[in-house]
Amino acid sequence: MIEILSQPELGRAKEAGALVANILHTLKSRATVGTNLLDIDQWAKSMILEAGGVSCYVDYAPSFGRGPFGHYICTGVNDAVLHGLPTDYQLADGDLLTLDLAVLKDGIAADSAISFIVGETKPAESVAMIEATERALRAGIEAARPGARIGDLAYAIGSVLSEAGYPVNTEFGGHGIGSTMHQEPHVPNMGRPGRGYKLRPGLLLALEPWVMADTAQLVTDADGWTLRSATGCRTAHSEHTIAITNDGAEILTLPTL
Ligand code: MG
Ligand code: MG
Repeated sequence: MIEILSQPELGRAKEAGALVANILHTLKSRATVGTNLLDIDQWAKSMILEAGGVSCYVDYAPSFGRGPFGHYICTGVNDAVLHGLPTDYQLADGDLLTLDLAVLKDGIAADSAISFIVGETKPAESVAMIEATERALRAGIEAARPGARIGDLAYAIGSVLSEAGYPVNTEFGGHGIGSTMHQEPHVPNMGRPGRGYKLRPGLLLALEPWVMADTAQLVTDADGWTLRSATGCRTAHSEHTIAITNDGAEILTLPTL
């Protein structure tokens, strides 16, 4: 299903987007050496519930996971890139942490992910990988406007990732979003210009370039949820929810704090 949102629904989408972004911003500031991933999950829970939001994750039980997920945020450390199940792990200096959060507010969902390095040690290759996903995300957003096609966005994202030297996995990518977290159209992180669904004002998309340093192959962790790089290499992920406007796209998941 593809949803085109009404003006009142777009207003609620902006509130959902700001909530998600502000929670991620706060969690990033709190995540330091020694922070436990389960504490990050509890902090996310408190902030979601205090704001009157509803978690998109707790009862999420798709065919590819050992559902329901049962937690409020995805936490991926180093080789864990997607659907990271929070565990009893204390962050170490130099860890590359990915936080991915989706929340419903007044019936509309927003979805965003950030990757960053914990502590003082900033490994150059990790910094480069994070920056590549952020550049790819910006390129995808710049390509998003009424009349553009999904393939244009996918091409813009994939070109940045490929030119940066990363293999691209097209199994998991971006997606439509609205009254539920995951909707059509799928937005692969690599594609051909001029192909696919034509964007219209009022469409919400979650764009989410992610990479693994030296492979495009994922393996599923023993927890049944966390997807890791098959080689154990580090990974990064950047995601925003955007709304297609009359002349471009608006990022909904920017912090307002
Ligand atoms: Mg997400
Ligand atoms: Mg998403």
